[in-house]
Amino acid sequence: EAKDAGRNRLGRFRREMIMAAQRRAQLERDLRRALATRSLEVFYQPQFDCASKQLVGVEALVRWRHPEHGFIGPDEFIPIAESCGLIGELGTWVLEQACIDVIALGEHTGLPLSVAVNVSARQFRDNEFIEVVRNILGSTGLPAARLELELTETVLMDDVSRAAGFMHALRSLGVRMSIDDFGTGYSSLAYLQSFPIDQLKLDRSFVRPLPRDGATLAGAVIALAHSFNLTVVAEGVETAEQLAWLRAAGCDVMQGYLLGRPAPLEALRSAAGLAVA
Ligand code: C2E
Ligand code: MG
Ligand code: MG
Ligand code: MG
Repeated sequence: EAKDAGRNRLGRFRREMIMAAQRRAQLERDLRRALATRSLEVFYQPQFDCASKQLVGVEALVRWRHPEHGFIGPDEFIPIAESCGLIGELGTWVLEQACIDVIALGEHTGLPLSVAVNVSARQFRDNEFIEVVRNILGSTGLPAARLELELTETVLMDDVSRAAGFMHALRSLGVRMSIDDFGTGYSSLAYLQSFPIDQLKLDRSFVRPLPRDGATLAGAVIALAHSFNLTVVAEGVETAEQLAWLRAAGCDVMQGYLLGRPAPLEALRSAAGLAVA
């Protein structure tokens, strides 16, 4: 009967809600422990210059191997870290580790590689973040110009009036600022002028349909970025055809599974120095 079906659906919905809440509570506890015992890992995905094909940098992507649940992606645990107040500690740890590791990788390859670090909404909202960045640059000795901070449009639109000033302050340290997942947010193009940005990361969703579809859109973003003197990094390059298209379109830097998956520092060390064929 319809009423029973409705009640069953509601029952299932409640059970799912409870299970999700339990998993979240468990992950929150475990994340606290993982941070304390330093059992998170930072992986690195290589980035290549489109024209010279040289390795130019890496993006730091945090990983968590949970003892019971196995691998848990940052899309699931970063929001948990944000809501339970662990993001500051987690973010600081990733940033420091990334700076240390890229110095080592730079020495190994003899290239002045840069490292891109993702900054969450909460981290960006905390005024102390400037001091955190300054201190880590100081203690690790990484030249500021080799650090890129990635922000999403949503983070900027959160508090537009504060964001521009805060970005200026960060940038005055000498670090570079990128907009991650560009094109997926709701922001207007006007902010390209009002925010001190160095780089746009063309979201994977624009790269995926290339070269058969989406060329107009991707081409427009690249041209727009260049007209504002911004460099463009293409994300999610998976095919040789996409790579060829992006290169011809004048895209500056690219990253994606075709060129290299996120991997531990050690794996990158042995593969580094390589240029894309
Ligand atoms: P993102 O910064 O946009 O990172 C790109 C994501 O795309 C990564 O997922 C990467 O592994 C994946 N990816 C790279 N190349 C390809 C490709 O060719 N094809 C496909 N399908 N995917 C590709 P990941 O590592 O799971 O990270 C997801 C998101 O979690 C990141 O998106 C970023 O927003 C966030 N995140 C990762 N590490 C950190 C961190 O240390 N701090 C903060 N606040 N957020 C982080
Ligand atoms: Mg990113
Ligand atoms: Mg992205
Ligand atoms: Mg993303």
